[in-house]
Amino acid sequence: MPEFCDVALPVPLDMAFTYHVPNDLAPVIGGRVLVPFRQQRMMGIVVDLHDNKPKVTTRNVLSIVDPAPVLDEKLLRLGRWIADYYLAPIGEVFRTMLPLTAEFKRVVGYRITQDGEMVLHLAGLSGSSRRSQRSPEEQAVEFRVLDYLADVGDEEDAGRVPHFWPKLPEVGISAVEGNELNIPTNARSTDPAAVQALVREQTLRSATGASRKLLDGMVRKKWITRQDLSAQQEATRTVKIAVLKSPEGKLNANQRSIVETIAAAGGRVPVETLQSLDVPRTTLGTLVRRGAIELVEEPASFRVSRTRPRPQPFEFDFTAPQKSALACLRERVESRKFSGMLLHGVTGSGKTAVYLAGMRSVLEAGRSAILLVPEIGLTPAVAADLHQIFGDEVAILHSALSDKERAEQWHRIRRGEARMVVGTRSAVFAPVTDLALIIVDEEHDASYKQEETPRYHARDVAVMRAKMSDAVVVLGSATPSLESYFNAKKNKYALIELPDRVEQRPLPEVEIVDMRQEFQETGHEQVISRKLATEIRERLDRKEQVMVLLNRRGYSPVVLCRSCGKKLECKNCAIALTHHKREHKMVCHYCGYTAPVPKACVHCGSEYVYFLGTGSEKLEELLHGMFPQARIARLDRDTVRGHEDFERTLNALNEGELDIIVGTQMIAKGHDIHGVTLVGVVGADVALGLPDFRAAERTFQLLTQVAGRAGRGQTPGKVILQTYFQDHYAVQYAAHHDFLGFYEKELRFRSWMHYPPYSALANVLIRSGKLDEALQWSGTLGKWFNETRHEGVRVLGPAAAPIMRLKQDYRYHFVLKSPSREKLNATLRAMLAHAAQQKIPRTQVIVDVDALWLM
Ligand SMILES: [Zn+2]
Ligand SMILES: [Zn+2]
Repeated sequence: MPEFCDVALPVPLDMAFTYHVPNDLAPVIGGRVLVPFRQQRMMGIVVDLHDNKPKVTTRNVLSIVDPAPVLDEKLLRLGRWIADYYLAPIGEVFRTMLPLTAEFKRVVGYRITQDGEMVLHLAGLSGSSRRSQRSPEEQAVEFRVLDYLADVGDEEDAGRVPHFWPKLPEVGISAVEGNELNIPTNARSTDPAAVQALVREQTLRSATGASRKLLDGMVRKKWITRQDLSAQQEATRTVKIAVLKSPEGKLNANQRSIVETIAAAGGRVPVETLQSLDVPRTTLGTLVRRGAIELVEEPASFRVSRTRPRPQPFEFDFTAPQKSALACLRERVESRKFSGMLLHGVTGSGKTAVYLAGMRSVLEAGRSAILLVPEIGLTPAVAADLHQIFGDEVAILHSALSDKERAEQWHRIRRGEARMVVGTRSAVFAPVTDLALIIVDEEHDASYKQEETPRYHARDVAVMRAKMSDAVVVLGSATPSLESYFNAKKNKYALIELPDRVEQRPLPEVEIVDMRQEFQETGHEQVISRKLATEIRERLDRKEQVMVLLNRRGYSPVVLCRSCGKKLECKNCAIALTHHKREHKMVCHYCGYTAPVPKACVHCGSEYVYFLGTGSEKLEELLHGMFPQARIARLDRDTVRGHEDFERTLNALNEGELDIIVGTQMIAKGHDIHGVTLVGVVGADVALGLPDFRAAERTFQLLTQVAGRAGRGQTPGKVILQTYFQDHYAVQYAAHHDFLGFYEKELRFRSWMHYPPYSALANVLIRSGKLDEALQWSGTLGKWFNETRHEGVRVLGPAAAPIMRLKQDYRYHFVLKSPSREKLNATLRAMLAHAAQQKIPRTQVIVDVDALWLM
């Protein structure tokens, strides 16, 4: 066994750490180990085993978590690529790739210090405290905690714990990370008196705030990482399933109730479900004896889908372009070589059917596929369809899963039980074997970019993973990103077009309403133009449905004082607070800070405060006023708390229980509602006024996508596009469904301005809670950029970030552009090294490669 191993730890440092491997341990590359790191224990991934003794003294690996790798060689390589490309710490990359946090808990234990022993000793001697400022109650708490800790001792250091948890004593009270001195519900074998004492200490602390340092110096924190194998146990645990066989003969009411329950669930149901029925337990036994029902055991990990049917035969009535797209995809998959395809299909052209048919052929060939969807794309209805098509072979990874459920799904995929994986961003790391196909649906969607370290883009990672696996990657969209379309045009991807909607449905007619002219003619600022109002009324008369997009939530986005001219801003961010009328609050949409609705100006006390602008909440109210008879619902982050809310509203729309649906961009994405014949677009061009080079692209995409919701059924659709920028090319091309026209115009702009796809771009953000620190650090780096003058890399900045203050941080930034990605990354690496030398904390310098937002 090699003597040393290098471990990638989830810390903001761009390196792996070398540890000594004790004789009795056998770590594996790609497996997790537990190691000491500073004062803590940490879990990391072994990235190398070797005999090169480092110059510094090494500490011992404490224990092995996985006897076999959890990241195979290809995923390790992918992780290294991400770390390199996005300049992200390797350990943080691996942590992102492994959704297994549920299996471990980091807990805080306490041990008594010498000072603590002394205090305890003195208290025992004199019965009075050396510190007069403490109340008797506080002293009592202190005494009980110290007494308990002294009593428990420190068995771990006495070496009685060979390597891992089982024998580790519960030193004092343990608490879940981040909540010092909290009492976890799962604390085992802790002394009730001490628990009580600490509970009181906690209460004391929160009640007075003064006793914050109650036990300061007398107890020492110590970190324990505890393995909770519940996920693995879950995987091997079995459950009893009742399967309906032949329920012949006469059934009594109780028996009928059981049989009907199973039948309603599709013929199979977990026995525990039946126990909730109000029937005697013996009834089930009787039915089993009579052969009406059979009991079978299944692994508990099938829980998610076990009542689902087996894969169903899968037939689609494909159009000719769909057929040739599918043939092309299948041929490439069979070649077992890397290739990329861009599937550019107009809204309603049936891209999803092509994806699913492609995945089915991969499944039939016994191989694996991953389908990535945007965050809002995975509704329960979609999940039901997927189960219908793929049966138990599908694992669905969505944001509503608990950590534990996510770990369960991960293990199912790893064991090869689920070879079809559908999920949002991080599903790109699913540990499938024999990967044949990765599909990125709506590849232009911004939710594929992670906005925290590692700041990877799942689409680009998907392409790299396919490359490393000799697999096929399909990027699909009605509005491909400039980058992807550019790559396709340069023959890096095969470009497959689906130019028509299915069943020869026409694309909707788009009519532009110039809101400046509307203002001149009506004499006041309108939210809903006369044209849109007329069209809505017509649809309501014909019992058709209407969708109105306003991409801004809340009631009024700005509160302004007419006396002093100041806005009401968030206390943590340089952002105006939005008025939310129903909740009767002012809310910051960036950090969540809330404030009461002001009756007078907070700056000058004047009563002339005005609520300006319109958000989706106000739009809904306006529509209620204009069309009192209409049934109206709203979809935005305020009305949708989870997938269920979203699904419920969409279902109501589908069932014809709603006439008008109002919402933010949430309503624009991929939903197939057949009754909507009119789409109204109100204020979707706000982005055009932002200082962001992607604003035109984003606006074009949003307008095209929302227009695509109209006329997906029998009746042709129409779009009324209200805008203050009617001459802007993004608006014009979207109105004419002209992707190519937009693309060419936008490319010229990007080329001229040296923006992607002509340049690689990175945003470097310097942040600090202290203004002078943020200024000083960005000055230091600015000076360094100036002095070093990296050839072929343009550096803009330092400048105040467009959102200069966010979540209490002051923010400055640099934008780096280079036609050469190697040069760009070399510059960034050198900059990070310099920053480290200048003692600028790594967490305060954010490097965002291929940044989507420069805000
Ligand atoms: Zn004022
Ligand atoms: Zn804020």
